[in-house]
Amino acid sequence: MTTLPELDFEYDSLEPHIDAKTMEIHHSKHHQAYITKYYAAIEGTSLGQKKVHEILSDLNDISDEIMNAVRNNGGGHVNHSFFWKIIGPNAGGEPSGDLLASINDSFGSFNDFKAKFENAAATRFGSGWAWLSVDSNGKLIITSTANQDNPVMEGLLPVIGIDVWEHAYYLNYQNRRPDYLKAFWNIVNWNKVAEFYNLAKKSDSSYLI
Ligand code: MN
Repeated sequence: MTTLPELDFEYDSLEPHIDAKTMEIHHSKHHQAYITKYYAAIEGTSLGQKKVHEILSDLNDISDEIMNAVRNNGGGHVNHSFFWKIIGPNAGGEPSGDLLASINDSFGSFNDFKAKFENAAATRFGSGWAWLSVDSNGKLIITSTANQDNPVMEGLLPVIGIDVWEHAYYLNYQNRRPDYLKAFWNIVNWNKVAEFYNLAKKSDSSYLI
């Protein structure tokens, strides 16, 4: 989509876990800037005919002049559009069904999964993201990426992502990234994650922009 996607919730509805001002700036300024710069970069090319995540998954086709702009801003657009979907108010708790079984199978237990995911997010140096993704064999995997890179660039389909750029948490948490990571579990929309997991297992990436 070429315009800023509307959120399914109000800016203040994630408090106290994410404050309203952070949400407002993150969505209306940061995400908007990625969109504006992405479409400026691809103007005059045929890239607008493809979904942004499809372009990210095959960057070899992109010319050198616009490569960095496409990667960083296209990635920012895909990542944030995805992030807003898997968080929300009245969320948190635990997954169930196939998703929980797969988490237990892959990581030992739900608590072990959370610890491994938090560790991936805490140890991502500088700006980036931590992810839970489905690989080409349908298995769950935890990774992290730098900047605005997305798991599709490594042949993975994300089902959870957490933004660990300072702009995502600094107003409320300052340097305390681990506290933000702990709070994140209160806003994970497990119904949406399960929906994306069921698609990702079938290699269906249609839920990504
Ligand atoms: Mn961000």
